Amino acid sequence: GEIDFNEDAKFAEHMQLKGEAVSDFAKSKTLLQQRQYLSIYSQRDELMQVIRENQVIVIVGETGSGKTTQLTQYLYEDGYATNGIVGCTQPRRVAAMSVAKRVSEEMETDLCDKVGYAIRFENVTGPNTKIKYMTDGVLLRETLKDSDLVKYSVIVMDEAHERSLNTDKFSNFFGGAPLFEIKGRTFDVKVSYSKSPCEDYVEGAVKQAMSIHITCPPGDILIFMTGQEEIEATCFALQERMDQHVSTVKKGVPKLLILPIYSQLPADLQAKIFQKAEGGAQKCVVATNIAETSLTVDGILYVIDSGYSKMKVFNPRMGMDALQVFPVSQAAAKQRAGRAGRTGPGICYRLYTESAFENEMLPSPVPEIQRTNLGNVVLLLKSLKIEDMLDFDFMDPPPQDNILSSMYQLWVLGALDDVGSLTERGRKMVEFPLDPPLAKMLLIGGELGCLNEVLIIVSMLSVANVFFRPKDRAEESDAAREKFFVPESDHLTLLNVYQQWKANQYRVDWCNDHYLHVKILRKAREVRSQLLDILKTLKIPLTTCGLDWDVVRKAICSSYFHNAAILKGIGEYVNCRNGMPCYLPQNSALYGLGYSPDYAVYHELILTTKEYMQCATAVEPQWLAEMGLMFFSVKDSDSLMLDHQKKQKDEKTAMEEEMENLREEQAEMEKI
Ligand code: ADP
Ligand code: MG
Repeated sequence: GEIDFNEDAKFAEHMQLKGEAVSDFAKSKTLLQQRQYLSIYSQRDELMQVIRENQVIVIVGETGSGKTTQLTQYLYEDGYATNGIVGCTQPRRVAAMSVAKRVSEEMETDLCDKVGYAIRFENVTGPNTKIKYMTDGVLLRETLKDSDLVKYSVIVMDEAHERSLNTDKFSNFFGGAPLFEIKGRTFDVKVSYSKSPCEDYVEGAVKQAMSIHITCPPGDILIFMTGQEEIEATCFALQERMDQHVSTVKKGVPKLLILPIYSQLPADLQAKIFQKAEGGAQKCVVATNIAETSLTVDGILYVIDSGYSKMKVFNPRMGMDALQVFPVSQAAAKQRAGRAGRTGPGICYRLYTESAFENEMLPSPVPEIQRTNLGNVVLLLKSLKIEDMLDFDFMDPPPQDNILSSMYQLWVLGALDDVGSLTERGRKMVEFPLDPPLAKMLLIGGELGCLNEVLIIVSMLSVANVFFRPKDRAEESDAAREKFFVPESDHLTLLNVYQQWKANQYRVDWCNDHYLHVKILRKAREVRSQLLDILKTLKIPLTTCGLDWDVVRKAICSSYFHNAAILKGIGEYVNCRNGMPCYLPQNSALYGLGYSPDYAVYHELILTTKEYMQCATAVEPQWLAEMGLMFFSVKDSDSLMLDHQKKQKDEKTAMEEEMENLREEQAEMEKI
């Protein structure tokens, strides 16, 4: 909707915001004083007593009251870490890293010394580590090696209300546990709705932020967007608008410091959001939902809420995950607004109408376990010898369709046998902190003698996009990217990038010249070495196929049956199994072939304006037939029969019946 600048100014005046009083808080107080100011501090003694008297307790408190950063330190100070580690799980990697850093500062120790963190592919802990922040996925993996988790004396499961996929397993821990409530202090937040639906919330947010900056009393701004691309677009547009404004008004325009935060942002840039802007400048943080609960930035007086967030959603009918933008829930919208009332009364601008809030948003978010692919979870539970998947005591049971479809996918990958037990291959797949298809790709790479090549591809797929594409140099960077293209495959293109980086001694200037993110490439190298360690423990030798990359494509093909597609028109495909349309994105290496290959497999489907195949590889129909007999058969020498769809459906139904029978049997058993 249209924004009335004057109205904003009047509104802000009416609220009598006390921006300055707050903004210097972090600067003027020592870390110890800041710790003592938190609301959890005044209840420290009672809290620690309840902890001493109970095995399990549930702690509830406002965001920012000090739960995440203080509780671990209290436990440490009270001697809980003398015979073990105080562990604290986080649903998000950024939070684990950032909180560990903050706590190490508060405790005046180096990160990796007394305080450390562990996230997938990154272990920053040492022999002295007494407080360890980690993602819940990391802790779950540790239970595979040591089911009693003996090295921990206490475990804090943070953000347990979020019911992330990995914490749902611990649900029975909560039964009957006492509840401790931290009384917090929060200030009023006035909510302002858009008068009409906002067509472009990036533009809406930029306008709103400019309006606040120009007309409202000082105070920092927090904008909620859905992901990296939007955040970058918002920051870019906002900076542009600021520059224009400065050049027209000239004198006396206060500065605006624009800071993005999202999970793939390098750690040093992430840390910037907590810093005070120089010379009294106003700060504008543009964030994903990471800033909703996990990270608290003090001094925020204005929140701008797009009303959307990105979620990975699994569609069991199609058997695939897709990253999609959804409206947030009412609970999430309230939480977002609350971020403006931490240090004084604030304002939240919702870029949607009141009627959308009331009528179109769900009261609370759908727990992750009910909406994502359970492949990894099923594999882990199976290896923990939990066989009765359908009757497992989940806190929020996932839809049966999702469990069945995940089991089906694992069966297709050869990780489960016909009766749903873990196979030898499945047992090996569990060892890798990877999604099942990628774990399988490694194993097949080993079998086909091209492990070195597949290992690099899997590592590159496990990190963020290595191609750097600044908006103002889009053409140059696209041209640089094209030089790496291997026309049959985006996967091989990634391999090519890595091999060339290596041939150029992993040089930074080489990366810069070729529009590649050196930090992300280094991360891939690190991931590679960790996966190599696991391969060594499994005694799988590192073989190479040299430059015969056809066999690498075959290994790629072997793990993506669920993502095989057949050509319909130039750049237009349909998924072989379910007929779902999928398109080759403009930046795919496959366009370099000069024709669209008849068959392709892809890494994942991204839904934006269309369904795009992210990272695709041309494959031979014979490979699909050879390696996936259950779906595909070859009629003539090279034409693939499409009756595999029916066949696949029959087999899936058979599998489902099998599962249903198992379930009934179990129900019978329980009655007895
Ligand atoms: P809770 O877990 O209850 O939401 P936290 O322990 O995360 O609360 O936050 C307590 C305080 O510590 C907040 O005021 C927050 O701003 C501050 N804080 C947390 N992490 C950082 C950081 N990396 N840098 C500066 N301040 C931080
Ligand atoms: Mg917290």
